[in-house]
Amino acid sequence: MVPIVYHPRYNLTAFGLERRHPFDGRKYRRIHDALIARGIRRAGDFVVPRPVDRDELLKVHAPEYLRSTRNPEALAKSLEIPILRRLPGWTLDWRILAPMRYATGGTILACRLALEEGMAINLGGGFHHAAAEWGGGFCVYADVPLAARLLRDEGKVEKVLVVDLDAHQGNGTASIIGPWKWAEIFDVFETAVFPPVKELEDHPRPLPSGVIGQEYLDVVRDSLPRILDDFRPDLLVYNAGSDPFEGDPLAHLRLSAEDLVDRDLLVVTEARERGVPVAMVLSGGYASTSWKIHADTVEALATRFDRG
Ligand SMILES: [Zn+2]
Repeated sequence: MVPIVYHPRYNLTAFGLERRHPFDGRKYRRIHDALIARGIRRAGDFVVPRPVDRDELLKVHAPEYLRSTRNPEALAKSLEIPILRRLPGWTLDWRILAPMRYATGGTILACRLALEEGMAINLGGGFHHAAAEWGGGFCVYADVPLAARLLRDEGKVEKVLVVDLDAHQGNGTASIIGPWKWAEIFDVFETAVFPPVKELEDHPRPLPSGVIGQEYLDVVRDSLPRILDDFRPDLLVYNAGSDPFEGDPLAHLRLSAEDLVDRDLLVVTEARERGVPVAMVLSGGYASTSWKIHADTVEALATRFDRG
């Protein structure tokens, strides 16, 4: 079975957050529960991560930045939820940062499992707006660069390809891996939305607003096989944001739920046909049905890639 990584602590359930930010804090649990309800997995089948620790975070983050996340003012800015400024630091750490550390640990674990099993999915993570010294767009910890750096330092991978198909540019990820000769990013994103300033990337594919599913899938189909053949990564980390969905309030691309399943099958299949291990993380998705799109994708991937 394809390992699926999940911890109940991923979920953010505090302060009526969901009413202040277009973010479903229980998205992860809904996906987990749907997979069980559909008979794709049993409760005991999920792999449980530990939270990332400070030494691991220091592999990519500056100590001053980690210290600044304890400051409610700075954190409120990263998360774009001004009300958080009024809460004590310990509450924010327990209710917001700790869940993100569990999800970051989940991304690291999914990358390790992908190397062992060929593929793994973290039902969270994909905080691609977090850089070494700043956060933004609801992202605090740079989970994907961090996982890549750890595995590279352990000698488990030589080259890592990040495929970022969230609707927003993965500016934080791009800024960290930019100087790393051994890591590249292929990023399909809508130009007109956050972040306002785009980072330089190895394989950027900026899109105008309103692009429909077929055009979008053609961009991926035309680029990804060649990038895989040229770069020959030892690991592909797939940032599978579902916000290119036509009903997403934070972007204006027009993919249907079915297009997103096709997209995720396309990415994983292209990698697996070349023997490249894939770790998938969920990243953005802000529609009320985003959880269902992710559940549909994971179901389709499990159906195609579970063995025995
Ligand atoms: Zn996004």
